[in-house]
Formats: sequence, structure tokens, C-alpha cells
Amino acid sequence: MNKIVTEEFEIFPWNENLMTGISQIDDEHKIIVNLINKLANDLTQDKEFEVEDTFNELALYAEFHFKNEEKIWEKYLSGNELVLLHKKSHDSFLPEIIKLKEHHKDKTFTQMTEEILLFLIRWLAFHIVDEDKRLALILNSLNQGKHIDEAISDASDFRSNSTDNLIDTILAMYDNLSLKAISLIRERKARIIAENELLETNKKLEKLSITDQLTNLYNRRYFDEIFDRELKKSKRNKTIISLIIIDIDYFKRINDTYGHAFGDVVLKNIATCLKKVCKRPNDFVFRIGGEEFILLLTNEDTNCAISLISILQKSIRDLKIPNINSDISDYLSISGGLISLIPSQEDSIDSILKIADDRLYIAKQSGRNKIVIE
Ligand code: GH3
Ligand code: MG
Ligand code: MG
Repeated sequence: MNKIVTEEFEIFPWNENLMTGISQIDDEHKIIVNLINKLANDLTQDKEFEVEDTFNELALYAEFHFKNEEKIWEKYLSGNELVLLHKKSHDSFLPEIIKLKEHHKDKTFTQMTEEILLFLIRWLAFHIVDEDKRLALILNSLNQGKHIDEAISDASDFRSNSTDNLIDTILAMYDNLSLKAISLIRERKARIIAENELLETNKKLEKLSITDQLTNLYNRRYFDEIFDRELKKSKRNKTIISLIIIDIDYFKRINDTYGHAFGDVVLKNIATCLKKVCKRPNDFVFRIGGEEFILLLTNEDTNCAISLISILQKSIRDLKIPNINSDISDYLSISGGLISLIPSQEDSIDSILKIADDRLYIAKQSGRNKIVIE
């Protein structure tokens, strides 16, 4: 029977105004308050079975306590109508809860228990502060040797104080609840911040996983994903998709002549140039290998792709990146292969890539520094 609430969450904090001064009654009241607090804790943790258990324990304990209390009232005030009224209030307690339970059958378990909890708090606060404290005052006056009528009359003066006491008690509860509410809000905010940070981290990770570290272009992995998606879209909508594969000419000789670090800078400059040329929302630029790139153009016709190629070749020429050991120029040049088509059902990622690759091969074989378009 003697369960003590160990959780810090107290919906009904014990408070000085609740003391009657009769130690047996105060001890029993404390146990009831503890049980109500336990009920609230079980409820907030969605412990349905525990809630039912605690609830039954509370009902049993309330009955036990009412009997003890009635014995004390009976002992001192036998036959007085106050005893009858008090007993009546006890007797209404359990039926009231059962009624609440039945009335809320169509509600969720949590809703029902919450309402019962609120009833318990209100009932008990009032019961203790108004009725039991009045009894304590009567007993006190009787112990001082006063006549029963005088004792009862003293106690009714207390009535006016009881409202203040009740207000103090309820306010103490509200203070407590407000503090809890504030800490819950804080927790919620902290959780939202943590969730946002997690979201940001995930975004960064996601970006990292599709980005080529040296050039910041999309990587090969992302190309596979996007090409698959865009190819399907083109097939469905019967729209043109264009793919240009680009390979730097004699790039090895740049490394050999100027050093690997310079080669890296060159790759970055080429990447920036490709990005500048392919800036439409439906253009994608990928670095798919060492000095190989792919431009994927969607929702553009073949002529657009061809004119983009001449802009690209001019831009690369204008960069004037030295490659004095190239067989064809003193400056860096590129070769490439274009394929531009409305894909049929038979066309696949591999078949389209193969055509582009074959054209790149032809470009290389036929002197480099050109993009083969058919
Ligand atoms: P081709 O005109 O036939 O394409 O000749 P190439 O020299 O461009 O082609 P090859 O495949 O012989 O050499 C590519 C070179 O690119 C070899 C490799 O060391 C270099 N490379 C690959 N990745 C990187 C990189 O990240 N940084 C640098 N600096 N070099 C790279
Ligand atoms: Mg190559
Ligand atoms: Mg090359």
C-alpha cells in the first residue's frame, strides 16, 4: 500500500495548507496524494496497465482512509449532522469516479484518465482543505475543553479562511504545473533544434555523397541516379535528352609537364567553365572520372545542345590553359561525343552511353579538339 512517487513529476504537490494537524489523517492524505501523482506519471508515460493498477490501488486506499477518518469523526462528533454530511461526501467519491469512467467510454484511455485525474485533484484538495481541516479545528477546540456547539461554531469561522487556503493550494499546484510546462517547452525547443541540426547534417551528408570533392561537381554515383531518372522521364514524356561526354586532351602531359597539383587546378577551372556554360535548371554537370565529364541536358532540343557545344569550346579556348606538350596545340583542348535523342523503350543507359563514348573515340582518333555529334 505504501507506494511513494519516485519520479520528479508532481501534478499535485503536497503543501502546508493540506495539513490538518491530525497525524494519522495527514499521513493517509499524503499517501493518497502520492498515488494521484503516481497515476499522473504513469499516464504521461502511457503505462496503461500501471495506470489501471494505481487506479485500483487508489480506490482501495481511499476506502480504507475514509473508514479511518469516519471512525475519528464518529468518536468525537457522534450523532452530529456534520458526520453524516462527511460520510455522504466519502460515499459519493467512488460512484463519481465509476460514473466518469462510464461516461467516457467512447473516449481514449488517456482522455478518460486525464479527466478522472483532474476530478481527483479537485475533489481531494477541497475535501482536505474544507472538510477535514474543519474537523481538525473542532477536535482542537474540544481538546481545549470547549463545548461541542462552541467548537463547531469556532470551526465555521474557519470557513472564510478555507477559501483562501484553497486558493493558495490551487495556486501552488499551478505554480508547479507552470514550471513543468516551461521545462517541457524548453525540452521541446531543444528537441526541435536537435532535429533541425540532424536534418542539416543529413543534408550535408547527402550533398557530400553526390559531390566530387575536387571539383564540387556532381559525381559518378549521382550521374547513375539522375541519368536513370531523366531517361525514364524522357521516355514517358517523349522529350529530347542530350548527353555530351567530354575528355581533356593529353591531360597526362599537363601533369607530367606542370605537376599534379597544377593538374588539379586545371580540373577545377574546367569544372567552373562547364558549370558556367550549363547553367539552366535542367542541365546537369558531372565529373565521372579523372579528366572525364558528362553534361546531361533535358528539355532542350538538339540544336540547343549543338550551340552549347560551340559556346563550350570557345570558353575552353578562352581559358588558354597551357599544355605545351600537347600534340595539337599549346593550350588545353577537349574532345567529346554528343548524343541527342527522344529515347525509345529499347534505349538504355548503357546503349546511350556507348554511342556517346564511340563518338568521343572517333573525336580522339580523328585528331582531338572536337566534339562529334553524329
Ligand atoms: P587523351 O587525349 O587520349 O585523353 O590523353 P590523356 O592524357 O588525357 O588521357 P590518359 O587517360 O592517358 O590520362 C589521364 C590522366 O589524368 C592520367 C591521370 O594521372 C590524370 N588524372 C586522373 N585524375 C586526376 C586528378 O584528380 N588530378 C590530376 N592532377 N590528374 C588526374
Ligand atoms: Mg580519359
Ligand atoms: Mg584525356
